[in-house]
Amino acid sequence: MNHAIRVHEYGGPEKLVWEEIPLPAPKPGEALVRHQAVGLNYIDVYFRTGLYKAPALPATIGMEASGIVEAVGEGVTAVAPGDRVAYATAPIGAYAEARTIKADRLVRLPDAIPFESAAAMMLQGMTACFLLTRTYAVRPGQTILVHAAAGGVGLIMVQWAKALGCTVIGSVSTEEKAELARAHGADHIVVGLETLPARVKEITAGAMLPVVYDSVGRDSFVPSLDCLAPYGMMVSYGNASGPVAIPDIGILAAKGSLYLTRPTLATYTAKREDLEACAKGLFEVVSKGAVQIRVNQSFALKDAAEAHRALEGRRTTGSTVLLP
Ligand code: NDP
Repeated sequence: MNHAIRVHEYGGPEKLVWEEIPLPAPKPGEALVRHQAVGLNYIDVYFRTGLYKAPALPATIGMEASGIVEAVGEGVTAVAPGDRVAYATAPIGAYAEARTIKADRLVRLPDAIPFESAAAMMLQGMTACFLLTRTYAVRPGQTILVHAAAGGVGLIMVQWAKALGCTVIGSVSTEEKAELARAHGADHIVVGLETLPARVKEITAGAMLPVVYDSVGRDSFVPSLDCLAPYGMMVSYGNASGPVAIPDIGILAAKGSLYLTRPTLATYTAKREDLEACAKGLFEVVSKGAVQIRVNQSFALKDAAEAHRALEGRRTTGSTVLLP
């Protein structure tokens, strides 16, 4: 028996259906993983609503989980039955008790990392890793802005950027989230977007910022550009408030010869060596305690709809896992 959460048609959380699905034997190059914990990510909402399209419907959504390898297909040498592993990758299919997946997308888990933390950290933590070290490699002494600073990616970014020697400004929507981000190292918090550029101007004594990491999208795009210094880098990596529509590329000229990028974890971990380096970097900062993974919510996998309501309702902080 293998149960999964599937989407038969795009829509609200009520479209998430818990049902039995087949569990094929692993093909050559694949491993069968029995999940111990599944990560909840905002991208799961996009695949549920249809903002991002599944290859076909019905589809099992989800891109991140940890578990135990139960069987491997022909030619697999990187992992073996009994191994503790985790992944954060396409194709979707993680909201299941077990699944088959390409073995070269799996990472072996250090013994010290429990399954729940692993499912909570792979996608959000590797995202923080590539954003801070590759998309725009921050330097000690720089002041940066992280949106949704009390969220899954946000809380990890705040801690990691502090460990890299940055001064971190976080944006959040409530005082409670402000407290949480501060407790994880944020130097300055701005509540709401209305006063954001003015507050950044005040904090930086007019210098503004070399980089903004923006996961909110539609609502924060222009205020984020207004926080950048000339030649600054706008890293637009998510759309929690809706997708960004750029009316005119000239906006980058008008606001100071800015750079704009729309990076994805998929590109930055497409090569096996990049995936391994990213996972290694993450496990290191977590193992030495520089970054703590906060699993602030957990739900039964079959109650994924409830988890989606909480995430979209901005009622979660830190990371969330779904337990099969
Ligand atoms: P979060 O835990 O950050 O949850 C989303 C947060 O966004 C909310 O808690 C809320 O924080 C903020 N938000 C602002 N406006 C809205 C809105 N209108 N509706 C809902 N939330 C809103 O989620 P994740 O950590 O899973 O993901 C964060 C972002 O990073 C997402 O946009 C996701 O798509 C992106 N991402 C991108 C990746 C990539 O490869 N490009 C990889 C991983 C994540 P507040 O209330 O404080 O404003």
